[in-house]
Amino acid sequence: MTQVETGVAGGVSFELTPEQRELRALAREFAEKEIRPRAAEYDEHSTHPADVIAKAHEIGLMNLHLPEALGGLDLRAFDGMLVGEELSWGCSGIGTSISANGLGAAPVLIAGSEEQKEQWLTPLVEEPILCSFGLTEPDAGSDVARMKSTAERRGDEYVLNGSKTFITNAGHASWTVVFAKTDPSKGHRGISAFVVPMDTPGVQIEKHLDKMGQRSTDTSAFALTDVVIPVGNRLGEEAKASRSR
Ligand SMILES: Cc1cc2nc3c(=O)[nH]c(=O)nc-3n(C[C@H](O)[C@H](O)[C@H](O)COP(=O)(O)OP(=O)(O)OC[C@H]3O[C@@H](n4cnc5c(N)ncnc54)[C@H](O)[C@@H]3O)c2cc1C
Repeated sequence: MTQVETGVAGGVSFELTPEQRELRALAREFAEKEIRPRAAEYDEHSTHPADVIAKAHEIGLMNLHLPEALGGLDLRAFDGMLVGEELSWGCSGIGTSISANGLGAAPVLIAGSEEQKEQWLTPLVEEPILCSFGLTEPDAGSDVARMKSTAERRGDEYVLNGSKTFITNAGHASWTVVFAKTDPSKGHRGISAFVVPMDTPGVQIEKHLDKMGQRSTDTSAFALTDVVIPVGNRLGEEAKASRSR
């Protein structure tokens, strides 16, 4: 008997589980009720969608990937994609604003100690706060080894200088993972990562960048001028931020 006759197909099933269908429906309903009605206006005026972010946080559509131990849902990338697809159906800019904590939190999840995860990630679950991922610079996009930002160790502190651009949500983030060279002579092997609270003296949002699309997601440039942070804000070992794991 063939597979067609029995109605039973072998191989991998691409059916969504009942939980995944429920999650997708929740995101769809949210996009329909909370995002779509605001999409055109927020896009036209490049409005940061703080109110929509707060509602998404309240019903559990943010920080989906954080581990249960930190209060998160521990969802897989595929589940996050199901949610992201629906939010972006509502408005890709607002969808990006809601989802971008995933990018900012990733280096802490990958390289942070348990204490650092507790310190920086748990508050994301408790409140609708934002974090961002500060890698790109005016002269360092695809080729991040060209970055010029530096982090100089002075005792128990680092002093950061440089500038970052095109950073999603940076203008509204409570902290950013900043990549900077602790050893400028070593190219990509000299890059380290640091959590920088955005209210640290010397951090200056220079520009909310204008865009032709996704206008309701904040994309900002910021400068770091003698920004002093504790050594405990470094993620992982010094000069190992570009190492593949
Ligand atoms: C809306 C938006 C949000 C962003 N958010 C963030 C963020 O949150 N954090 C962050 O760090 N960055 C962010 N970025 C920056 C983004 O990661 C960079 O734009 C990207 O890395 C490309 O860098 P670039 O724009 O300097 O382009 P370039 O690196 O100058 O590349 C320009 C073009 O040349 C091509 N190219 C480059 N090198 C090569 C090569 N060796 N061979 C062949 N082709 C090549 C590229 O594919 C591209 O088409 C954001 C950008 C945008 C537009």
